[in-house]
Amino acid sequence: MKLDEIRAAEAKLLLPTYERNPVLFTGGEGMHLIDENGDRYLDLLSGIGVNALGYGHPAIVNTIAEQGRKLVHISNLYFHEYQAPLALRLTAASGLDRAFFCNSGTEAIEAALKIARAHAGLLRSEGRPLGTKILALEHSFHGRTMGAVAATHKDKYREPFAPVMPGVEFVRFNDVADLKAKFSSDVCAIIVEAIQGEGGIRPISPEFFAEARALTQSTGALLLCDEIQSGLGRTGKWFAYQHYDIQPDVVTLAKPLAGGLPLGAVLCTEEAARAIHPGMHGTTFGGGPLACAVALAVLDTIEQQHLLEHVTETGNYFRSRLNDLASKYPAIVEVRGEGLMLAADLDSADLAKQVVADMLVRRILINRTSETVLRFLPPFIIGKQHVDQAIDALDQILTERTPQTSASSPIGAVQHG
Ligand SMILES: *Cc1c(COP(=O)(O)O)cnc(C)c1O
Repeated sequence: MKLDEIRAAEAKLLLPTYERNPVLFTGGEGMHLIDENGDRYLDLLSGIGVNALGYGHPAIVNTIAEQGRKLVHISNLYFHEYQAPLALRLTAASGLDRAFFCNSGTEAIEAALKIARAHAGLLRSEGRPLGTKILALEHSFHGRTMGAVAATHKDKYREPFAPVMPGVEFVRFNDVADLKAKFSSDVCAIIVEAIQGEGGIRPISPEFFAEARALTQSTGALLLCDEIQSGLGRTGKWFAYQHYDIQPDVVTLAKPLAGGLPLGAVLCTEEAARAIHPGMHGTTFGGGPLACAVALAVLDTIEQQHLLEHVTETGNYFRSRLNDLASKYPAIVEVRGEGLMLAADLDSADLAKQVVADMLVRRILINRTSETVLRFLPPFIIGKQHVDQAIDALDQILTERTPQTSASSPIGAVQHG
């Protein structure tokens, strides 16, 4: 089928959950996606932060082929070779003790919320007065299932499905006073993203993060850190919370974990894991041999190819080039982010929409989140030449679409997180 036929068929046959861009991709290679006509697109979004090694990476392709021939699925009733080594790698990198594997980000969040509720129940049974409330943040995004969406701030994701999981209260973003006011022994967990993703690439402040850690520690509540988008090297460290020197109790992972295969994970402390016993939680597909084998190959590649260092270096270059644009175009209000999790916040949602469309015409993929925010989540293998190509395109588009400051305006006057 051709794009037009597929579009018409999907419009009739699928639940209308997506407004897709009118492109039909049939292949990919390195930093590029390839459409039905053989045209190549520079991908600065990597399937929303999933394809960290780009397209067709031999480590992923070969592992899928080999493991596909060996064993794809067995259920969690039996042992396979890869969950233990993968758990070992993730616990070593995170400083946490135990792992549970699932299939997606939202499932990792569900597991984290269940751990928090069960842990509070255990503490109550031991005589500590912990409640069931969960504090989440404004602009948060944690997923689409009934628990995760309850902790997701945007009304339009939550309200049509009410009642979602009860007991979540939202704290104003980076407002330490509001956090203190809303925290009490009723709270069993605070959930944060060190750098909010869908919420617009907003880094949490060190003061707020430290206060969340101190408050939870004071009562035995758990600090949950959602690293589904920011984790596994995206910001130049294995986990974004490591930029803050704060150790959470529970961490969720997914997007880049298995190189494009569905795999999520929740990592937690021994203390949090005390609440979980056989039969309390589980999954049919989660943590299967194929996905786990590929995840090990992804982590090996990140390490062997020194991609954390590369993400830091290329991310700094990308951010400084965005800052150059920001000093040229007043329409860029702020440049934010860390490593290869970057954003340019514009002064208008219409402009942001237009820029994404203009970039697509130039065969460069980015997206818009939080209305005004251009988001960049490129594969970790991005080179400076790809950054330059994107910046040149943005420069041309903003010249066409917006007014500029005089050429003499200082460079680097823009704040970033
Ligand atoms: C994408 C994302 C999720 C949800 O992951 P899914 O795999 O789409 O369920 C949760 N939290 C964050 C921070 C995310 O970026």
